[in-house]
Amino acid sequence: MKHLPPDEGIEVAFAGRSNAGKSSAINTLTGQSKLAHISKTPGRTQMINLFELDDERRLVDLPGYGYAKVSRSVKAEWERTLDEYLRTRKCLKGIILLMDIRHPLKEFDATLIHWATESNMPVHILLTKSDKFKRGPAINTLQAVKKELPKHLVSIQLFSSLKHTGIDEAIAVLDEWFGETSDAS
Ligand code: GDP
Repeated sequence: MKHLPPDEGIEVAFAGRSNAGKSSAINTLTGQSKLAHISKTPGRTQMINLFELDDERRLVDLPGYGYAKVSRSVKAEWERTLDEYLRTRKCLKGIILLMDIRHPLKEFDATLIHWATESNMPVHILLTKSDKFKRGPAINTLQAVKKELPKHLVSIQLFSSLKHTGIDEAIAVLDEWFGETSDAS
């Protein structure tokens, strides 16, 4: 936390269980194929990685939670870091929460959504790897998950980095949080 840049401007954080497709989504949304995967170099996975869009605006890649191969104490440390970042960071404008469409709303996802809504922090959910389902079942899952969510401050959509679906919808949310108008170039 003490190595983060000054708490100024606007940050949008990407969170999700390990393997949810977070790195792929960051790369897809930024149009840069290697950006977030670089942060997965062994030994760096526990860090918060920041990607500067300009002097005022940053994408924040939070450590993936629930990674099976790490010890309980490392997991606890990640959760502490996440918790501290989310609770204290004033420039945090919103959270993009990634959930694999086949495994939505696991325990920590629910905790994060609960925390965010209690803190008045908007959350936009990407149901990732939506290409794994045919369109009908994908939409049914979207509707079923939506029913479980608070109505206020939480939005959700289908997303696939592989098929490049849902990009415009996600970019529109990012633009809004970063204060871009839709016709800005
Ligand atoms: P992270 O751990 O959350 O950063 O997840 P990654 O982006 O590294 O993706 C985890 C795995 O899911 C990798 O094997 C990816 O190739 C795969 N994956 C990511 N996005 C998609 C997607 O949109 N569709 C499919 N079918 N697989 C994906």
